[in-house]
Amino acid sequence: MDNGSNEPGGPLVAVSASTEVMRHPEAGEHLLGPTERQRAARFRQEEARQDYVAAHVLVRICAARVLGVEAAALTLAQQCPDCGDHGHGKPYLAGHPEIHVSLSHTHGVVAAAAGHHPVGVDVELPGRTGTAVEVFERVLAEAELKLVQAHPDPGRAFLRQWVRKEALIKIGRTTLDTLGELDLSALPLDTPAGLPLHSKYEDLYLLDWQDDTGTGATVCAAATRPPHLATPAALAP
Ligand SMILES: [Zn+2]
Repeated sequence: MDNGSNEPGGPLVAVSASTEVMRHPEAGEHLLGPTERQRAARFRQEEARQDYVAAHVLVRICAARVLGVEAAALTLAQQCPDCGDHGHGKPYLAGHPEIHVSLSHTHGVVAAAAGHHPVGVDVELPGRTGTAVEVFERVLAEAELKLVQAHPDPGRAFLRQWVRKEALIKIGRTTLDTLGELDLSALPLDTPAGLPLHSKYEDLYLLDWQDDTGTGATVCAAATRPPHLATPAALAP
């Protein structure tokens, strides 16, 4: 697959409606481990529970394709870097320390990534972050704020920078508290219609994608090698 770069071997990134993930031949709640099942059972809303399950299934499918194994052969675990708890925090594959994984879920849409290099992925839907000026000012650097406010669709432009920053949090480059200090104003705010946009931030490779004909999701993956977007065929068993 052409990943838009001369450096192959970057993480595989997948984005899908939660319902679509569960139609994959390998998908099912049976893939989840006991800790994940407990966590899933705590969601009050059934839709949120399904999104959680779908994200945890999709990340296994991505990792399974990278490793050339069945999704059912993989054990996904999490550990929080702050409190050490195993019910949340950074996901990893038990028994496969060479594989890096990341996952994200929002209302009805999930994203996942897996590969041999560190990766962070985030997915958001338009209209969910709000467009309050205070939010823009907290999240964006000054130069970013100017560009977002001058954009024909400031909400969409804001969301693009937001998912990038969330992906950078997941790969450990920034934190929720320091988002406004991270300046991504050199990056384009628009992605080419229907296609992923590949760009760089410092030493990291970013993949941006806007799923305008499907879920409507805005997606970013950040990695130390160029990430590539998986086609449904690439995820097939
Ligand atoms: Zn914790």
